[in-house]
Amino acid sequence: MSEECSHDCSSCGQECGDRSEPQSLLAQSNPDSHVKKVIGVVSGKGGVGKSMVTSLLASAMQKKGYNVAILDADITGPSIPRMFGLGGQKPTGTPNGLTPATAKNGTKVMSVNLLLPNETDPVVWRGPIIANTVTQFWTDVCWGDVDYMFVDMPPGTGDVPLTVFQSLPVDGIIVVTSPQELVAMIVEKAVKMAGLTKTPVMGLVENMAYFECPDCHKKHYIFGDSHINELAAKHGIEATAQLPIRPQLAAASDMGAIFDVDTQDWLNGLTDFIEKSHPVK
Ligand code: ADP
Repeated sequence: MSEECSHDCSSCGQECGDRSEPQSLLAQSNPDSHVKKVIGVVSGKGGVGKSMVTSLLASAMQKKGYNVAILDADITGPSIPRMFGLGGQKPTGTPNGLTPATAKNGTKVMSVNLLLPNETDPVVWRGPIIANTVTQFWTDVCWGDVDYMFVDMPPGTGDVPLTVFQSLPVDGIIVVTSPQELVAMIVEKAVKMAGLTKTPVMGLVENMAYFECPDCHKKHYIFGDSHINELAAKHGIEATAQLPIRPQLAAASDMGAIFDVDTQDWLNGLTDFIEKSHPVK
């Protein structure tokens, strides 16, 4: 019985009970899934390279010897299967659920694009159905043993990112930005959303930060001086990374061989930080 009520709240059916302990909305993972760490990759808006960074980070962690998976929650703009050359692979059904596709480098992937008859078919679904699909990628997919799962979130702070934060046990997020976004408060909205859901921000990645001349190797900061360090300091984010604009990155992703790109110079600091701050062994 609640202190404010004169009757037994447990059987009254009204919403007057003690709400000091909010109910967990976490969804139960599939019995065939053993996922140790879940890392969300978010951005303020689309087209800044969030899927690119998700793929590169996942591939870098795989190269370090971990079992890595990507849950593609960007349901209306899924690009992970193409980047990993998974165009023709269809997930198979088992009594416990679907098995994800596996890329040549060993990374496991589940994406709505793997389930559509044609990868060019649009997903014309309403928000709650999209959000439910993402939850099902957690509950109904047999992920097996995974050290690090990266969740490629849809851009912004809408329904689906909120569902992911509430229903998946997200250990932390990586925020991906473009140089222009860094100064436009869009990143801060994503950081604040993580704060509201009490999810730590593990790192900040500035994509397309500069162009490196292939001849003289001079770095040109086309969009002006970077503000990544200021923003990281303001929000107490320890790890940052900068990626250049590089046509070879787009080419590797179009060829389905994103895992062949050598990212050591750009992402080592961040992947070392992930490994140390969220160890799995
Ligand atoms: P988002 O997931 O934020 O919508 P994507 O990762 O799909 O963005 O990237 C958008 C486009 O930009 C893709 O065609 C991708 O290949 C390209 N791209 C992303 N980052 C880079 C980069 N650093 N250099 C060159 N092309 C890039």
